[in-house]
Amino acid sequence: MKTRHRIKGLDCPVCAAKIEDRIKKMGYNARIDLPSQSLIIEDGDIEEINRIISSVEPGAGIAENSNVSPVGRKLKILLLSCIVYIFALITGRYLHGSYEPLEYGIYILAYILAGNGVLLKAGKNILHGKFFDENFLMTLATVGAFLIHELPEAVAVMLFYNAGEILEGMALARSRKSISSLVNLKAETVNKIAPEGIVTVPASSMTVGERFIVKSGERIPLDGSIVSGETWLDLSLLTGESKPVKAGEGYRVVAGTINSTGLIEVEATAILERSYTSRMLQMVEEASSRKSRTERFITKFSRIYTPIVVLIAVFLATVPPFFTGGNYSEWLHRALILLVISCPCALVISVPLGYFAGIGKASRTGVLIKGSNYLEVLAGIDTVLFDKTGTLTEGKFGISEISGHNGMAQAEAILIAASVESNSNHPIARSIVDYAFSIGFKKEDFLAVRNYREIPGEGVYAIVEGNEVALGNERILRGLSLSSSPKGRSKIYLTVGGKLSGTIDISDKLKEDSKKAIESLRGQGLASIAMLTGDSPDVAAAISSELGLDWYQGGLSPEGKLEILEKSSSAGCKIAFVGDGINDAPVIVRSDVGIAMGRAGSDAAIETADIVISDDSPLQVSRAIAIARRTRSIVFQNISLAIGTKALFIILGAFGLVNMWGAVFADVGVALIAVLNSLRIFHG
Ligand code: ADP
Ligand code: MG
Repeated sequence: MKTRHRIKGLDCPVCAAKIEDRIKKMGYNARIDLPSQSLIIEDGDIEEINRIISSVEPGAGIAENSNVSPVGRKLKILLLSCIVYIFALITGRYLHGSYEPLEYGIYILAYILAGNGVLLKAGKNILHGKFFDENFLMTLATVGAFLIHELPEAVAVMLFYNAGEILEGMALARSRKSISSLVNLKAETVNKIAPEGIVTVPASSMTVGERFIVKSGERIPLDGSIVSGETWLDLSLLTGESKPVKAGEGYRVVAGTINSTGLIEVEATAILERSYTSRMLQMVEEASSRKSRTERFITKFSRIYTPIVVLIAVFLATVPPFFTGGNYSEWLHRALILLVISCPCALVISVPLGYFAGIGKASRTGVLIKGSNYLEVLAGIDTVLFDKTGTLTEGKFGISEISGHNGMAQAEAILIAASVESNSNHPIARSIVDYAFSIGFKKEDFLAVRNYREIPGEGVYAIVEGNEVALGNERILRGLSLSSSPKGRSKIYLTVGGKLSGTIDISDKLKEDSKKAIESLRGQGLASIAMLTGDSPDVAAAISSELGLDWYQGGLSPEGKLEILEKSSSAGCKIAFVGDGINDAPVIVRSDVGIAMGRAGSDAAIETADIVISDDSPLQVSRAIAIARRTRSIVFQNISLAIGTKALFIILGAFGLVNMWGAVFADVGVALIAVLNSLRIFHG
């Protein structure tokens, strides 16, 4: 069986390929997925593989699934370096002059404790020809500080940076935890096959050997093997590959993967606890791997800022002494001072701290963000596309009329429809089944359904009592011509044996705050707000005009949604897509920011989204955008303030009006202002 392991300390594609090669040479089937930092392998000796990895790339290896979270470990190291730092500050005064090597020793210890991550990354990036990111900037500035004996400043920069990163990590961890709990809440039940029929039981009550069914769009709750049914599985959580995999009888399914199309019957091969831990790990991993998709702001910023600083420093060290025929060592000293003050504490702490505040604030509002970069992308969004059913509307359908056609009695139509729909998880399906119960049908009355298949955005297909049955929108009627459905209502058609046998009029209500959501987005000056739905164009038109949308598109298959999204995207729009269904998952992945409804949303949507709305209110979209924009502007203010102050001090320094201590002192002041400023995000 394929297993997935998280690897740490590996970020060069060449080394990854080398490692893959070496593992393959040993006869194992392995693949390294660099963006998600994972190794996917089919049965292998992990110890041995670990040795191969670290021999190719020292420091890299398979991360242990220890209980200490990376944040926890970082926090411990930070505390330790703080203690050493304080010790250095206290003793430094006495050691200075008399025992200087000892003074340096203590500072260097604090420096290495606080800055090992940054130093390692800077070193690695330089080896791979990547200069001028924030790690390089900090390394340069702090090494400069050591050279001109500004020891406290060197350590402080690293400490501040780490503190910011840790806070940001904590905010993210919290929001991811909320997402996991949203998903877990739902995955806790199993559709068990019991002697009396299918019953919903807690997953924890299942034992090995018991059977259960998994409907399309559902996450597979327990490890097991398929005993009947055929389907396509979405294994992306497990393997990182988004291509669906066909699975039939005998296929071993893994908990946490998603059943995309068919209905399958599975025999459990592991109890919940064993299945559960693997799933949790995969989820968190997935969430963190997504961080690499867009470059972080501080990196983008450093790429421009660092070379400028380096150029000026080189200029200062070489050109003036050449012309003034003067003292090279004095100008070198000035160049070093410039490097030191170029990397202010305020600068390195303000960005992560801003994200900490932004993500924390969003979490508290009910907007769960999977990675800091999404906050940044969200601030630059100009187009919001909504799904309809379950996103703008309640997704709870009232049934206003059911009629039989071509000689079929109404009750029979209801019974056939409900029997087939009892295998689906779609909101329409649930409403039809509930309706059947409400008029007196019992579960036992339901007819046996074979060859069940669901086509997202279209409907369901099956064989009932030897007849081919289809149920869904116009698309199932290909070939038949029919009058369109009345406005504001959707029609579901039932065909039995190729003949139209029934129609069901269903109506869905707008969510309470859908209208407010659109108005509020409008107030934020977005270029366009629109809706993409699989429901009929008539219904789409009615809803769109009621909400005042800029445009809409109805009758879309999942591919159709994707096509429109890609068209808008290539026209230069920066798009947030908000959806809930399994048919929305592809668009959620492709959009610049994918947003899913957390409660009613399908697992597929939540897994693939960048942001999850915990209470399903569309109003949260504009709240999230507001928080993102505010975070961006506050981070920007902090950076401007930090750089502005520095520039001022450099100029004053050049005229001999302040010394370097003035600049360092001002920096601490600015860092404090940046901290306070970031906290304003909480009260926006
Ligand atoms: P939306 O894109 O608005 O969220 P969906 O793509 O989920 O809507 O569904 C689009 C249409 O496909 C529905 O309006 C319905 O006509 C049809 N449909 C999808 N699944 C089913 C089902 N299980 N039973 C009946 N009709 C379905
Ligand atoms: Mg939907």
